[in-house]
Amino acid sequence: MASGLKQQIARKARREGASLVGFAPVERWAEFAETPEAFYPQHVFPFAQTVVVMAVPIFIPVLDTTPSIVYSELYNTTNRILDEMAYRLAVFINNKGFRAVSFPRDGYGDISVLIKRPEAAFSHVLAARYAGLGTIGFNHTLLTREYGPRVRLVSVLTDAVVPPDAMVEKDLCIHCQLCRKCCPTQALADTGHPIAAMNKQQCASYHKILKDEHRYPCGACIKVCPVGADRQLYGQNTSKYLREKNALDKNPNDPTYADWIHIRTFGSINSNDK
Ligand code: SF4
Ligand code: SF4
Repeated sequence: MASGLKQQIARKARREGASLVGFAPVERWAEFAETPEAFYPQHVFPFAQTVVVMAVPIFIPVLDTTPSIVYSELYNTTNRILDEMAYRLAVFINNKGFRAVSFPRDGYGDISVLIKRPEAAFSHVLAARYAGLGTIGFNHTLLTREYGPRVRLVSVLTDAVVPPDAMVEKDLCIHCQLCRKCCPTQALADTGHPIAAMNKQQCASYHKILKDEHRYPCGACIKVCPVGADRQLYGQNTSKYLREKNALDKNPNDPTYADWIHIRTFGSINSNDK
C-alpha cells in the first residue's frame, strides 16, 4: 500500500518534469543533527512525516557563460518549473487523502536579505541528501551522480508515510578544490574539513552586485565541478576554468573565451559597460 503510493507519487513527479525524485523520512534530520531543530521539516510543518525532493538539471554550456543573462534566465526557468511541479505534486498527494504542502524553491524576498541572514527557513540541499539524491560537496551544494552539483531542488512535505530511499553512502565530492580556486570572491576556505568554511555574506554580497547587473546568480562553484554524468555529454575543460579569471583580466577579449564573452556582452551590464 505505502510502496504503491510511493510509486504513484514518484511517477507523478516525473510526469511533472522532475529528473530526480527521492523520499526522506523526517527522522533523518534528528538522526544526523546537522541543522538546528527549528529547521527540521516536522518543526516547519508539524504534520510532516516524509519529504519528497525533486531535482531538475542545469545545462553545462549555459552555466559556462556565467555571469550572464542567459544563465540568469535558465536559473529563473528552473525555479519556476520547480515551484509549479511541487505545487502540483502537493495537490496530487492531497487528492490521495494526505496532508501535503510545497516549500518554495527560493525562500527569500531579495538577495539583500541574504546578506544580513544567509539562510532559508528550510534547506532543500539537506532534504535532498536525506532523500538519497546525493552528498554534500566541499562547495556546500548537493552533488548528484547524474548532474554533479548542477541541479536545482524543491521539496514537498507530507504526512504520507512511504518507504524511504537509501542515502548515498560514498562521498561524491573528489575534493579537487576547483570550486575554491575558481570562486571569484574567495568565499570558500579550506580548513581541512570535507566541507569548506564558507563566507556566506561575501558570496551574497557578490550576488547583490550581479543581480543589479541582471546577471545573477554566480554559480562558478557548480560550473567547474568535474563530478556528474552530464560531463560525459559536454566534457570538462579544467584548464579553461582555472585560467579564466587571469586570462580575462589580462585580455578581456581572449579568443579562448570568445563564445562565453559573446553571450556576456548582451542583455546585462558587464565590465565593458563600466
Ligand atoms: S556562488 Fe560564486 S561567490 Fe558564491 S561560493 Fe560559489 S563561486 Fe563563490
Ligand atoms: S569542485 Fe571538486 S572540491 Fe568542489 S565540490 Fe566539486 S568535486 Fe568537490
